[in-house]
Formats: sequence, structure tokens, C-alpha cells
Amino acid sequence: MRFPMENLETKEVKQTGESLNFLEEIITEDLSSGKYKSIMTRFPPEPNGYLHLGHAKSICLNFGLAQKYGGATNLRFDDTNPVKEDTEYVDSIKEDIKWLGFNWVNEFYASDYFDQLYIWAEELIKKGLAYVDDQTQEEIRVGRGTVQTPGIESPYRNRSVEENLRLFREMKEGIHPDGSKVLRAKIDMASTNMMFRDPIMYRIIHAPHHRTGDKWCIYPMYDYTHGQCDSIENITHSICTLEFDVHRPLYDWFIEKLEIFPSHQYEFARLNVTYTLMSKRKLLELVRLGLVSGWDDPRMPTICGIRRRGYTPEAVRAFATKVGVTKHDQMIDLGLMEWCLRQDLNERSNRYMVVSKDPIKLTITNWKEGHTEWFNAPLNPAAPEGPSRKVPFTGHLLIDRDDFMEDAPKKFFRLRPDGEVRLKYTYIIKCNEVIKDENGKVVELLCTIDPDTHPASGQWRSVKGTIHWVAEEYASEIEVRLYDKLFTEPDMGSIPEDKDYKDFLNPESLVVVKGYAEPALESDNSGIAVQFERVGYFAKDPDSTPGHPVWNKATALKDSFKL
Ligand code: ATP
Ligand code: MG
Repeated sequence: MRFPMENLETKEVKQTGESLNFLEEIITEDLSSGKYKSIMTRFPPEPNGYLHLGHAKSICLNFGLAQKYGGATNLRFDDTNPVKEDTEYVDSIKEDIKWLGFNWVNEFYASDYFDQLYIWAEELIKKGLAYVDDQTQEEIRVGRGTVQTPGIESPYRNRSVEENLRLFREMKEGIHPDGSKVLRAKIDMASTNMMFRDPIMYRIIHAPHHRTGDKWCIYPMYDYTHGQCDSIENITHSICTLEFDVHRPLYDWFIEKLEIFPSHQYEFARLNVTYTLMSKRKLLELVRLGLVSGWDDPRMPTICGIRRRGYTPEAVRAFATKVGVTKHDQMIDLGLMEWCLRQDLNERSNRYMVVSKDPIKLTITNWKEGHTEWFNAPLNPAAPEGPSRKVPFTGHLLIDRDDFMEDAPKKFFRLRPDGEVRLKYTYIIKCNEVIKDENGKVVELLCTIDPDTHPASGQWRSVKGTIHWVAEEYASEIEVRLYDKLFTEPDMGSIPEDKDYKDFLNPESLVVVKGYAEPALESDNSGIAVQFERVGYFAKDPDSTPGHPVWNKATALKDSFKL
């Protein structure tokens, strides 16, 4: 489903009309029926990569629902696979959630519950509901059967409780090598739900864990872990993405057989965004192959990437709200995210003039050589009475090459030979002469100001065009990084298996140009992206050094995409 921009306003009206999404309906009902006194949610990332926009949506949903209904949210690291996980990821995940503006009441790790999960596994063995299987991974896979054909029972399925207990304890003691045995739940090898065909609960992995060290050499599987962790934490609404709906019966089965707190799982559609990949595995590959500068490359859909790009937490939260919660797959236009950012920055960001794009010199021939006039300009037009900045005007200026055209069409309201334009915050100028180099390239424009058009003159005269400019002598050189979509294909999720997603990388996703900035930019301390007037929103990059400021383009001023 695309999200046409035209519908945004109507959608907004509908949302403020207190129409509830399906999760809000469920929670309202659960609270009013007295099923729960308060709600408890959790955000359960696996610490095997940096968080991306999809996670941001899940965070906004889990924390947002708890906030709305007076509940609380746990952060739980789903760290059951010792091989892929790292504390670097744990730290980045915490930083990103805080940046988004949310606080968890408890920080837990699935590994905190390894002892309890082990005790429960023995309990299931004792109830005759779990057994140790010696088959190889391949035998187990084949034995599961297919959707059309029932599975075959393992020859080890009917081991006695005593034997199962002894073998499971031996697995825990480290007596058996990796892959030699697993613990399986004993459910139904003919079930139409493949998840019920004796799912694996534990596998042997002789690898140290980032938190439990060498204590364990058996690790629980996701399905045996998630619901029980929810239950231990009294999670009332365990919200996950749609692909887990086939896991739900198994989630309920373990909780029922163990007779523990009945957490419930609810599924919503994953977030997909055009021109964007949202798989930690592939994002990790982009980083490892050096195709981007790191997890926080401003082209990455990671939270740290968009933060560096200039996104604000307000914009990301607004985006998550606009996207909404549905039960069917969504493809959201990247333009919607940019729209949310523009809405936020338009209100809050400071304005500066920066000329880039191969500037043209503009010489004011009726200006006293060496004279500087300082103009006042508001830092933020949304607060014209608020703080202002001082902008120096001299006889030697620079303008964007795009703002001049020799044989301009009628509708071109910027500068042309013999044409007039206002230089923002200052005078109206007229272009009298065009100077070119030997190749015919325009290198300088000789202009005159109309002194009567000084903004404070009281004799306001209007012209069709206003352009931005900087005084050459006062301008500071900056590096401007212009970003575009990382991929050229709108639906990155539907790339056929035989094609490589890396073939769709946009070769123009980063273009570096030189810019010339008015002096006030250097002392900007707003902490958020600023507007380069008439160009777009830009955020200062951490690569900046005192002599070499670097600015990242967050987004253009206007919608760059077509409906
Ligand atoms: P990936 O597929 O990118 O590796 P994941 O689902 O494996 O992501 P987890 O760390 O397991 O990543 O996810 C943490 C939570 O974020 C889960 O509840 C998951 O459902 C949710 N989540 C992950 N991707 C998305 C997405 N695209 N849209 C919405 N929620 C998501
Ligand atoms: Mg996962």
C-alpha cells in the first residue's frame, strides 16, 4: 500500500477523531473488562546488529501503547544465540531507544532466565512432553514432513522420562558435542501447523555467551524462550510482526503446559519503506563490504544513520504514527518520512544562506569598494521577533549557478541579463553585464543595486524573484554531502532470489560538493539540522573539524517525488 501525500490531511483528521487501531481496541477492552489492571509491553531486540526504521516503528508502538494506557515497557535483549551477539550492539540499541525519547522500566536479557528455562525444560520432560533426540539436523528436517505430508516420528521419541532427564543433563554438562543431540517438545508429528511437529527447544552450542560466559553449552530456541520470558515479566500484550502468527499456537502451548502467567501475542504488519532495505543481515553486509561508511552512514536506514543524516526523534515518532498499525503488509513511501522531517524542521530549524553548485561571482558596480553593510535576518522565520543573525553584504558576492540563466524562459523568476531580483534580506539588484571565460562559461555578473530598495527604506518594491547569496570575503568554505536514495529499486523486498540486492545500489547516493556559507553558520549551536535557505535541511556531521566543517543533506525543502 502506498501512502499518497494528498491523503495525509484526511488521515490526520481521522486519527484525531479517536479512531483506535486494532491493538488499542484490544487493550481498551482488556482494561475495561478487568482482564488486566494495567498493561505491560516489551521491546525484544536481538543484539546482533543496529536498530533500523522497522525497529523504530516497533519501539514507538510498544512504548507508545504503554504510555497511552498508563502501563510500562521492558527492554529485553533476546540473546539466546551466543554466536552472533555482541555488547557493542547492546549499547547502541539502548542509545537509540533513548534518543527516540523512550524509557524502559527494566532492562532484562533472555539469558537472565536461562536457569528458569532449564528448570521448566526438565518439568516438561517429567510430564512426558519433551525428549532428547539423537537424529542429525538433516534427519530431523526430513522427518518433519511437508505441509502436504505428515512427519515421521523420531526413533528416539519414546525414550523414558529417566533416560531423557539423564541425557538432557549430560547435554548441559557438556558431555555431548555440538549437533549430536537436541531437546524437542513432544507434540504432534502430523499437525497441520508445522510448528507443532516436535519443535526443537534446546541445541548444543559450545560457545561462550556475551553475558553468561562458559556457564552454558546448551541454548534455548526462540520459540521455547520468548513466551516464557514474556510470562516471567508479566507481559500482557506481546506485540510482534506478522510472520510470527504461525508461532502463536506454540507460544500458547508452552505457557499452557507450564501453567504460568498467560501472556498473549499479537501481530502487526512489518514496516517496509520504498528504496530501503530493512534486514540486519544485509545491512551488516553493506558495512562489512565497505559499501557504506558504517552502521551510521547517513544513507543507512538505521536509527544511528538517520540521526546522523539530520532526522529528529520527533520526526521519526510522527512517521511511526502516520504509518499506523495494520494487519496487512505495507509499503510506505520514503517521501512520507521526508515529509515528517520537513514538518518538524520547518518549525524549529535555524536558517542560513549557503551557496554551492558551482557558484557565480556577482560584482556590485555601484558599491563602495571595501565597504560592508550588516543586515539583520531572523534565525527562524517562525519566530521573527526571536533571535536574529547578522549577514554581511559587500560588493563581491556569490550566488548559485542555478539562479542565473542567460536565455531564460518566461517563467524563470531568478536572475537573467537585464533582469532584476532581490538578494534575500537586502536590495533589489539588476544584472547589467555577463562575463564569460574563453569556453563561454559564465564566470561573473556585473550588477547594480537599487539603493531605494533597502528593506528598512520603507519604500517596498517587489520583484518576482528572491535568491540567496553570500559575501565572498566573509564566506567560509564547507563540505556539503548530498545524499540520495541508497537503492534504485522501490521495492527492495521483491528482488528475485537470483539477483543480488547490491546490484541495485544507487551510484549517485552520495555527491560531495564545496559550499560557501554565511559566517553565522559557524556558531550555530541549535543542536538540530538547519535550513540552508532555498535548498534544504542540513545537519553538521561528526566528521567536521574546526577548519573543515562537513554538512549532511537531510532532505530537500520540497517534495522530490511524484505522486
Ligand atoms: P531483521 O529482520 O532486520 O533482522 P529482526 O526482526 O530479526 O529484524 P529483532 O531484533 O529480532 O530483529 O526485532 C526486534 C523487534 O523489532 C521485534 O519485535 C520485531 O518484530 C520488530 N521489527 C523488526 N523489523 C521490523 C519491521 N520492519 N517493522 C516492524 N517491526 C519490526
Ligand atoms: Mg530476529
